[in-house]
Amino acid sequence: MFKAILIDKQDGAQSVRLAELDEGQLPEGAVTVRVEYSTINYKDGLAITGKSPVVRKFPMVPGVDFAGVVETSASDAFRAGERVLLNGWGVGEGHWGGLAQKARVNPAWLQKVPQRFSTQQAMAIGTAGYTASLCVDALLGHGLKPERGEVLVTGASGGVGSIAIALLARAGFNVVASTAKSSEADYLKALGAASIVDRNELAQPGKPLQKERWGGVVDTVGSHTLANACAQTRYRGLVAACGLAQGMDFPASVAPFILRGVTLLGIDSVMAPRELREPAWNRLARDLDATALDRMSKLIGLADVPAAAQDIVAGKIRGRIVVDVNR
Ligand code: NDP
Repeated sequence: MFKAILIDKQDGAQSVRLAELDEGQLPEGAVTVRVEYSTINYKDGLAITGKSPVVRKFPMVPGVDFAGVVETSASDAFRAGERVLLNGWGVGEGHWGGLAQKARVNPAWLQKVPQRFSTQQAMAIGTAGYTASLCVDALLGHGLKPERGEVLVTGASGGVGSIAIALLARAGFNVVASTAKSSEADYLKALGAASIVDRNELAQPGKPLQKERWGGVVDTVGSHTLANACAQTRYRGLVAACGLAQGMDFPASVAPFILRGVTLLGIDSVMAPRELREPAWNRLARDLDATALDRMSKLIGLADVPAAAQDIVAGKIRGRIVVDVNR
C-alpha cells in the first residue's frame, strides 16, 4: 500500500483526498519509482482545485513532477537504486503523477537527477525551474546578450519567475522583476533582480507600441502583461512566453513583430524533447546557487497539498513548494 493524493469526479463534482492505494492499481510502465519528493506547480494547483480541466482521466493522482529512487525496472536505461526525476509528459494529467509515494512510468520520461542535487533540491527546482531554464536557453539560443538591455521577468515571485531571475542574473543580465508583492523586493533582489516594477503597470490594456525598454522578457503570466511586454520590447528583442497566471488570452497587435522585429518564443515543458531537457537541467546544475534554492522553497507533507493548491492558484505562494511525500 502507498499514500497518494487522489482526484475523483462523480456526477460532475470533483473531490480530492489523501488515499491509501494498492500497488496493483498503479498504471502500466516499465519503471516503478519510490517517490521521495514532488512539488506544487501552478498546473497542479489548477488540477487539484479543478479550476481548469487539466485532469483528463479519473481517478487521477496529480503531480506533474517527482524525484525519487528506482525500485524496479524492466528497462535497460535505468536500474534499481538510481535517482531519477520526471517533468511533464502528461503525468498528473492523463497518467498517475508524483503526489504519491509510488509512481510507475514509461522510462522514456525519466532523467537521472544531476549529481549535484539531492532529490529534494531537484524538486525545489521542479517543473517550474526547469521551465525557467528552458526560457533562458531559448533567449540565449536566439542570441540575447546582456548589452541588448534589461530583461523583464513577470510573475517574479512565483516558481518560474524566481528561478528565471537567478539564472539570468548569473548569466550577467540586468534583471527587472515584475511583481504585485512589493514586500518581496528584498527576496527578489537577493535572487539577483537589479530592480522591481509594479505588475499593475503591465497588467492593464496598453498601446500596441510603447516606449522601448526590454532587450528580453521571460513572461509567466500571459494576457495584457505579455501584450505590454511585447509592446515595450526593444528593436529585435526576444520574448519567451511560458505562462498564463493572468490569463490565456493575448490581446496584442502584430506591431512589435513587424515594426520592431521582436521575436516571440513559445516555451512548452511538457512534451519538450530530450535535447532541450538535458541542457536545461545542465544549466540548473551549473548555475543555480544552493542557497538561492533554500531561500525560495518551503517543505510540506502530502496532507498539506489541497491547501497549497488553493494558495498557488490564488497567487499567494512565494517561490517553490516542495512536497515530502513520506512526511
Ligand atoms: P506561481 O503561482 O508560482 O507563479 C505565478 C506568479 O504570477 C505569481 O507568483 C504572481 O507573481 C503572478 N500572478 C499570479 N496571478 C496573477 C495575475 N492574475 N496577474 C498577473 N500576475 C499574476 O506559478 P509558476 O511559477 O509555477 O508558473 C507560472 C506560470 O507558468 C503558470 O501560468 C504556469 O501554468 C506556467 N507554466 C508553464 C509551463 C510550460 O510548460 N509552458 C511549465 C511551468 C509553468 P507576483 O505576485 O510576483 O506578481
